[in-house]
Amino acid sequence: MSEPVQQRLLTTPIPGPRSTALMERKNGAVASGVGTTMPVFAVAAGGGVVVDVDGNHLIDLGSGIAVTTVGNAAPRVVAAVQEQVAAFTHTCFMITPYEGYVAVAERLNALTPGDHDKRTALFNSGAEAVENAVKIARVHTGRDAVAVFDHAYHGRTNLTMAMTAKNMPYKHGFGPFAGEVYRAPLSYPFRDGLDGAVAAARAIDVIEKQVGAENLACVVIEPIQGEGGFIEPAPGFLPALVDWCRANGVVFVADEVQTGFARTGDLFASDREGIVPDLIVTAKGIAGGLPLSAVTGRAEIMDATHTGGLGGTYGGNPVACAAALAAIETIEADGLLARAREIEAITLTRLRDLQASDPRIGDVRGRGAMIAVELVDPETADPDPELTKAVAAHAHRQGVIVLTCGTYGNVLRLLPPLSIGDELLHEALDVLAEAFRSA
Ligand SMILES: *Cc1c(COP(=O)(O)O)cnc(C)c1O
Repeated sequence: MSEPVQQRLLTTPIPGPRSTALMERKNGAVASGVGTTMPVFAVAAGGGVVVDVDGNHLIDLGSGIAVTTVGNAAPRVVAAVQEQVAAFTHTCFMITPYEGYVAVAERLNALTPGDHDKRTALFNSGAEAVENAVKIARVHTGRDAVAVFDHAYHGRTNLTMAMTAKNMPYKHGFGPFAGEVYRAPLSYPFRDGLDGAVAAARAIDVIEKQVGAENLACVVIEPIQGEGGFIEPAPGFLPALVDWCRANGVVFVADEVQTGFARTGDLFASDREGIVPDLIVTAKGIAGGLPLSAVTGRAEIMDATHTGGLGGTYGGNPVACAAALAAIETIEADGLLARAREIEAITLTRLRDLQASDPRIGDVRGRGAMIAVELVDPETADPDPELTKAVAAHAHRQGVIVLTCGTYGNVLRLLPPLSIGDELLHEALDVLAEAFRSA
């Protein structure tokens, strides 16, 4: 299959008749708890386009939630997967290991922040990797407590639901949740106006008073929050937390599941802050769309666990490992860090132009191909989730895949694949501008 034509093309209303029929089958067969953002079913994707079953070409500003950063069906990933899947599909690394797993670990050890001695363990999903980072931190420190932040998202398993802030839709009715998880206030410059040092002192005070450093195994934080609303903490916030963790024997865990692998214009968001996490959790963009996740970190922490204590049937599946090596090669060979920064420049310029004439756009923020627009009541700056929904719905009808996020549901988030062309990107931003005008 070659890459789909790089054009927005609407051959039917969204959804078309075939998608409508498939949605009926979905509703009869798939648990209703599994929702969909778009009402259309995909048959192909690549570059900056997703093609649906009715032949509509949609512009992709979602990347399947920040996963297909190197592009959908990226050529190197496709070739590597085809070769590996024909050789063998699974032996279980814990039974008969294979080189691909080791090679991914070596790449992650070399590429993640810091030049200390590192080790890596591979898993399947972001949530599974976050859980394992907590397990490792607990064994290493001999302590139980975990500190997380307001607006955090860490996944949907029992422990990661406890770590996630937002009730609907992630937690409602699904408790009781894992214990020993404590929440501290985040730095949220648009809403709290605090500088990084002050916001960090506020968070550290809550942790010291309500948990006690001597009980704390780890602090887990997204360097830029994803689902929580693409919240970038004020400069200095993250370094102050890292310093406090180090002074108190607390493991600092960066959840870079959404921000990793060139998404923010750096290989990892921690790079821009100049922080060196003790453990870094990665997933989403790691393998061009195949399910893979990792915990990478200081050898003395990663090696604290007894042999056999970490693993899982599928963790580090050979096909996913082949895809990861090809995705990393693509980032390097295609200059995708620079591409992410070009996308940032185009997107921020266009959105700030819009903001200048539309007071409902309270904030435009983000880095690389991870840009957000926070929509508010112009009078009160209160979140406006209804407007956000209306703008997204308009974009969807016009063939642009765009996602929303945020604790208050009032953030539009743009996560295009780095393989999108300038023309398509501009066209998608035109559609968004029109969506704001009509909403
Ligand atoms: C998506 C996400 C997760 C969970 O990853 P899954 O693969 O869906 O389990 C964890 N942390 C962050 C920051 C994420 O964006």
